Amino acid sequence: MADKKKIAILTSGGDAPGMNAAIRAVVRSALYFDMEVFGVRDGYLGLMQDEIEQLSAGDVGDIIHRGGTMLGTARLPEFATDPAVRQKCYENLRAHGIEGLVVCGGDGSYRGANLVQHEGGINVIGLPGTIDNDLAYTDYTIGFDTAVNTCVDSINKLRDTMASHGRVSVVDVMGRGCGDIAVHSGIAAGAEAILIPEIKKTDNQWLDYIVQKLRTSFARGKKYGIIVMAEGVYAAPKMHHFTADYIASWLNANSETVGRRVDARGCVIGHVQRGGSPTASDRILSARMGEKAVDLLRENQGGLCVGVVKNRIVAVEIDKALSMKRRVDKHLIELADILAR
Ligand code: ADP
Repeated sequence: MADKKKIAILTSGGDAPGMNAAIRAVVRSALYFDMEVFGVRDGYLGLMQDEIEQLSAGDVGDIIHRGGTMLGTARLPEFATDPAVRQKCYENLRAHGIEGLVVCGGDGSYRGANLVQHEGGINVIGLPGTIDNDLAYTDYTIGFDTAVNTCVDSINKLRDTMASHGRVSVVDVMGRGCGDIAVHSGIAAGAEAILIPEIKKTDNQWLDYIVQKLRTSFARGKKYGIIVMAEGVYAAPKMHHFTADYIASWLNANSETVGRRVDARGCVIGHVQRGGSPTASDRILSARMGEKAVDLLRENQGGLCVGVVKNRIVAVEIDKALSMKRRVDKHLIELADILAR
């Protein structure tokens, strides 16, 4: 009887809710197709240290609803810079007889995956595990929907207290260079203004924009305000001072521009956005993508990453995926603008 095909999965880089659901989907799909499946601890670090263990169907029980990743994740900069580290990783995979690897992570993890494919000669399939939604080849990444829901939940709570006191909340959300968490949570939470890095404005232009939005909103009788800013706006070159607290203080000091007294507060939602039980949408996305990854490895395909485009699961070359430039959904931004009038 021929040996069973062996594949492995690792999670790498920043964690995202839904990674566990993806691990479960890969393991259970692989077992369904009579493969052996291994879990690698702590991303590329575990590959280097040979922390690779076979997983059973039971090992991935009771994780579908949990945030984080049962395999752990880590950052190993030497994987990018030291060929000897990478060779050790490839040797460890080969020593276990592993022919295929699923890498769940963001763009950095994908760059590593590409090396495993082209340098290590082991078939690799990427799964987009990142809350940031910053991979251009896919409409959604695993964890994005959960992060948006966490933001909306936080903003709902802020809204209660802002409404009671007639205050303005300036809310900083994650996403690195991508404004999708801000746009989606801003629309879902009914924000007056949404600041994203894809729209290039100086800090003064952003402040003008916020003032105009608040004036409009107060003029129709609203007593409080919600401003959502993507962290990438603050991280933009020369705008390091442009934090949620800075904007709030500026509004307080320049109330006359808004036309009424403003009591504004900055709020950074922070790392809670990375945690929590994944939403149904993220779990289903993980299930569909995990199954697809196993299908591709069964067909001896590699160097691909799985995505979802117009609700269809697709596979794209990792090289191509990494070179694609993300386009911001202009209509969503216009819609936010229309609805906040
Ligand atoms: P993410 O995958 O969430 O973007 P990182 O950028 O931190 O997270 O990348 C995760 C890991 O992927 C890094 O610690 C490193 O081991 C590997 N990696 C990142 N960039 C590269 C690269 N250019 N080449 C090879 N490996 C990389």
